[in-house]
Amino acid sequence: MINPKLHTTEHIMWQVFKSKLNQFRSKSLQFTDQYCRFDFFTKQELSQKNLEELTRLVDGVINQHLEIVTEMISRKNAQGITDLSLIPKSIDSVRIVRIGNFSIEACAGEHVKNTSEIGEFQIVEFKKIGKDTFRIKFTLDNLN
Ligand SMILES: [Zn+2]
Repeated sequence: MINPKLHTTEHIMWQVFKSKLNQFRSKSLQFTDQYCRFDFFTKQELSQKNLEELTRLVDGVINQHLEIVTEMISRKNAQGITDLSLIPKSIDSVRIVRIGNFSIEACAGEHVKNTSEIGEFQIVEFKKIGKDTFRIKFTLDNLN
């Protein structure tokens, strides 16, 4: 099972990056017990300074102690609320995960109940791995 703290943080990070980065797209996502590795595409040239700002924004959301709420809704009602492109067409009922009013995603995974359970967001590695493609590895200071 993916660590619920890491997984919930990934939702937050994704929403921050989506709102801040130019033409942001997720490319691949991998979890271990200790970290999350995320490869993404953006047309933006990312500096260390940009990265520090993004880290601050993610920490800022975590520190708001937002409640995580899940509900099952029909696919029809979910359309327009969130991106369903990765949900198979055969699925009629979609599990929606809200983090306060900050993020809404269709997701079947395990999450924490409140962002207060999540520790400090820490970037372990950041590098450019291709044209307009970057890799980030992050962890939390309270995983163990
Ligand atoms: Zn999730």
